[in-house]
Formats: sequence, C-alpha cells, structure tokens
Amino acid sequence: MSRWWRCSVKPWSALAALAFCAVVQATATNAATSNASDLLDRTESLRTKDHPQFVRMLQQVHRDAIHLPSGQQWQLRYLDAWETAFQGDYGKAEGQLQSVIDHSGDPTLVAKASALLMSAKGINNRYEEAFQLANQLATNLPKIQDKLARFLVLYNLSQLLGSAGQNDLAIRYAQMMEDALPPGETLCMPLTQEVAALYYSKRLTSSSPELQRAVDSCQNSGQPVYANFVWLIRSSVYLDEGHPDKALTLLNRIAPSIRDNDYQAQILSWQAAMAQTYAKLGDDANARAMALDVVSAGGSGDDNEPLRNAYEVLYQVEKKDGDAAAALAYYERYVAQDKGYLNAVSARAMAYQMAQQQVLTKKLETEALSKQNNILRLQQALDKKAVEASRLYIVLLLMAIASIAFWLFRLKRSQLRFKRLSRCDGLTGIYNHQHFISEADRVLRLLEKKRIHACLISIDLDHFKEVNDNHGHAMGDAVLKRTVAICQQQLRAADVFGRLGGEEFGVLLHGCSRDQGMEIANRIRVAIEATPMMENGCIVSISASVGLASSDTCGHGLQRLHMEADAALYRAKRAGRNRVIADIEKDDLVAA
Ligand code: GH3
Ligand code: MG
Ligand code: MG
Repeated sequence: MSRWWRCSVKPWSALAALAFCAVVQATATNAATSNASDLLDRTESLRTKDHPQFVRMLQQVHRDAIHLPSGQQWQLRYLDAWETAFQGDYGKAEGQLQSVIDHSGDPTLVAKASALLMSAKGINNRYEEAFQLANQLATNLPKIQDKLARFLVLYNLSQLLGSAGQNDLAIRYAQMMEDALPPGETLCMPLTQEVAALYYSKRLTSSSPELQRAVDSCQNSGQPVYANFVWLIRSSVYLDEGHPDKALTLLNRIAPSIRDNDYQAQILSWQAAMAQTYAKLGDDANARAMALDVVSAGGSGDDNEPLRNAYEVLYQVEKKDGDAAAALAYYERYVAQDKGYLNAVSARAMAYQMAQQQVLTKKLETEALSKQNNILRLQQALDKKAVEASRLYIVLLLMAIASIAFWLFRLKRSQLRFKRLSRCDGLTGIYNHQHFISEADRVLRLLEKKRIHACLISIDLDHFKEVNDNHGHAMGDAVLKRTVAICQQQLRAADVFGRLGGEEFGVLLHGCSRDQGMEIANRIRVAIEATPMMENGCIVSISASVGLASSDTCGHGLQRLHMEADAALYRAKRAGRNRVIADIEKDDLVAA
C-alpha cells in the first residue's frame, strides 16, 4: 500500500487514487510503435500493478533518455510527475505536471497530466485551483480524442465535483464514462462513482438498482476494492433506514475481502461502519472496541470521516455508561472532526462556486468585450459611411459649382452675344447706326480734349437699287459685305466704322486732317470702283459717292460733322456720283 493511499481516508480521495490504478492497467493494451515507445507504455502500465518494477523500468528508461525523441521525453516526464505524486510530494509533482501541460504539445499527455494535476490539487486541499483546472478540462473535453485520457479526465471530474457537493454533475460525468468505455475498461468505476454521488445526495435506498449493478460489475471485473466500497455504502444506507441487523450481516460478509485487500482507508471505513452498527444494535462493548481500533489506526487530520464516526460512537457509548468526563472528551473530538469535515466540504463547495463565478465573470467580460467590439465595428462602419457621404457631398458640391460655372459661362456668352448683336449690324458685322453714333461721339469728345483732328465721311453706293433689281437681293447683300471688307482694308484700328442704313456707311477717321481724310476717302472710293463683283459670268460694277466733313472746319461736334458730311455726299451725288466731296467751305475741293 502506498503512502498516498494510506493517507487518503476521505472516501472521494480514496476513489481518486483507485482511478489511477484502473486506468493504468487499461493503458497496457495500447500498441507501441517503436521499442522506446513500447518500453514507455509498458512502464506506464506497471505503475500500480507492480510499482517496484515500475520504478526499476523508469530508472532504465532514464539511462537511455538522451536518445528518446521529444514526444517520448515528455511522456517520461509525465511518468516522473506521476511517481512524485505517488510518493506524496504534490508540490513538486504540480511543477512537473504543469511543465508537461505547458510544453509537451501532446493533447493526450496534456489531458492525462491535467487530470492528475487537478486530482493532486484537490487532495492537497488547493480546491480553488483544482476547480479552475476542472473548468478548463470540462471545456476541452470534446477535444480529447484519446479514449483512456478522456476516461481518466471524466473520472477525476466526477470525483472532484462530487467532493464539492455537485452530485448531479458527478453523476453526469460518470454516465459519460459509461457511454464511452475505453478498450479493457469496465462499468465498475463509473457505476461506483454514480452510487457514491447518489449516496451523498441522499437519493440512494438499499433497494436502488444502481447498487447491485455496481457491485456486479466490479466483482465480475475482479475489482474487489470497488465492490467493497459499494457494499460499505449499502451498509450505511441500511443504518439510515433503521436496519442495523442487515448492516451487520453485510459487513460481516465482506470482512474477509476487506482484510484480504489490505487497503487501509477501506479497513478504517469498515471498522467505523461496524462500530456504528454495533452501537445501533446496543452492543456497546463491540462498538467501543471497533471505534477504538479506528482511533488507534485512524491517524490525525481534521477531515477524517471514519475517525469522526468512531468518536461519535465512543461519545454515545460513554454517555450511556454514565462516564460524563469520557463522554465529554470524545464529544469534543467528535465535534472537532465534524467541524473539520464540514469545513472541508464547505471549502470545496465554496471553491467550486468561486471557480464558477470566475467562469461567469470571464464570460461576461468576453461578452462585454464582444459588445465593445461590435460598437467599435459599428463606429468604424459609421465613420466609413460618413467619409463616403462627405465624399458624395464634395462630388455633389463640385458638380453644383461646375454647373453654376457652366451656367454663368453660358450666360456671359449669351450676354456678350446679345451685346454684340445690339451693337453690330447683322449683315456686315460692323457697328450699327446707333452704336456708331455713340462710339463716334465718344471718340470725338476725346479727340477734342486732346485737340486732335478727325474727319467724318459718309459713303453711299451708287445706283445700288439697280444691283438688287438686276442681280437679286442676295447679290446686293454680297456687294454690301464686300464693300465693308474693302473699306476695312483702307482703315486703321482706331477708326470708327459703321453701317448707317441700307447701302450707306459712316467712318470717323481718327487723328486725320482734312487732307489726310480726303486721301483716305478717295482711296476707299477707288478701291470700291476697282473691285467689281462677278456673277454668272457677268461683271457687276460698283461705285460709291463720299461726303467728308473735317473737324478743321466744322469742329468736333458729331451732329455738325454728320450734317456737313451728308450735305457733301448729296452734292457728290448731284455732281455725277463716284466722287468724294468735302464740307461746305471747301466746296471746290473735289476728288474724282
Ligand atoms: P443713288 O445712287 O441715288 O443712291 O441710288 P440708289 O439706287 O443707290 O439709292 P436708293 O435709295 O434709291 O436705293 C437704295 C436701295 O438699297 C433700296 C433698297 O432696296 C436697297 N437696300 C437697302 N438696304 C439693303 C440691304 O440690306 N440689302 C440689299 N440687297 N439691298 C438693300
Ligand atoms: Mg445709293
Ligand atoms: Mg442710299
């Protein structure tokens, strides 16, 4: 018997220790893929079956450890950790197991090491850490593919949760074990686990079918320790139901098996059960004897169920005997044990609740975080939409600006067109009468201020009516346009040129003296005469009469200049046309 087992007097812990034994035996069925792997598997299979041999083989593997591949190095470390825990050094074992969990990278090994670590923490009263690990294992359970590792994890989960009063969960995990038994394993362990959970949740009666199923399964698979565990539970149920006689019969029947197995924790449980049964039957002498056996072998510790039961029996017996002092002494010890037991139970229950609370808090934090993420995502989507919207606004704005600019451009263009139309003659493109008058007046005022000479000439085509009559109106228009072009060739940029009506034109010659004006007017007349139009092979000859008025003689007043130029033109017509005649004072001055 190992130290671990001898120390494990708590019923749940005793079961946990037994679990390793059973699972390890089943591991032996694994096929090895190489010599080293085979040796490791065989070593692992001997852990509790033949512990001294296991230790020897472990040492042998260590001698050749340098040649092992990485995966098997980690399997070796796991076995080292198991041996450390087996020797009771849980602190060291925890470090070794944690290293396997963190670095091995082998899911099966991680699952096995985690289950062992969880159990070790529970046995070592580090309940909170044990339950945290239990939560992790329960979450990762679907990922554990290896059947044996899964079986081991489920067993330890059921065990730990049962110890914290979570009997329904303990039953559920036990039933999961039943549903997926690994090769070589039987229903003994899960059914025993189920019976224990039903008993501790006070749902078991002496006739519950689970009791018989568990016993049958364990006996058939050659696991008397488990079978006796179930029998002990049945004896407790008999006592609870008020049948100490049945309990005594049962306990006597299993006594040889209990002795043969030499499992100290179970012997103590059996002795305590016998003491309780004798007490109920009124056999105080045997009750005292059995209880004292428990006390003498029961060790110490404040969470020792057989010891607690034994003290309770001793207290009742001494009280009945009238030994008040002894009764009080046992009562005090009983209370101390009971308190220790209750403290341990409530510590486990509290640790379980705290671990659950942490899971819940983490879940809430995760939810809050995911909500925050959602808000952030929404915010980003909104920002994106806002950017898109502002881009759209900018495009719309640019389009509106472009439309307005285009509209303004077209407006300006049509304004300019209207302005030009209002100023210019439609046929020839030069100033119309009205604009010629205003422009000529403006220029004359300017020239007057600067005392610069100017001449105003009136040009009228001779017998133009005949052109229209003889060659058509279109020909007449062509003649008018050509006459304008001829005049423009003779004029300068500063001269003001306009159509005064019909076939009559006016020119304000800028900066010209009378003589200079006469010269230009004559050049125009000559050019018109010298440029006949051709139409259908016949020549259309044109001539013009010109009247000139000069600021030298008439001053810079437009009206006067206009009148004098018209009068000179009239005289040129009367004088026979195709000539230039200047204003009245120079009547004699005629260019022909
Ligand atoms: P005169 O030598 O005395 O000036 O004789 P005339 O025939 O040139 O003068 P009249 O005043 O009798 O005739 C002017 C003609 O000019 C009458 C009209 O039909 C013509 N006319 C006026 N405006 C236009 C025009 O824009 N196009 C054309 N083709 N003919 C026009
Ligand atoms: Mg005319
Ligand atoms: Mg005329």
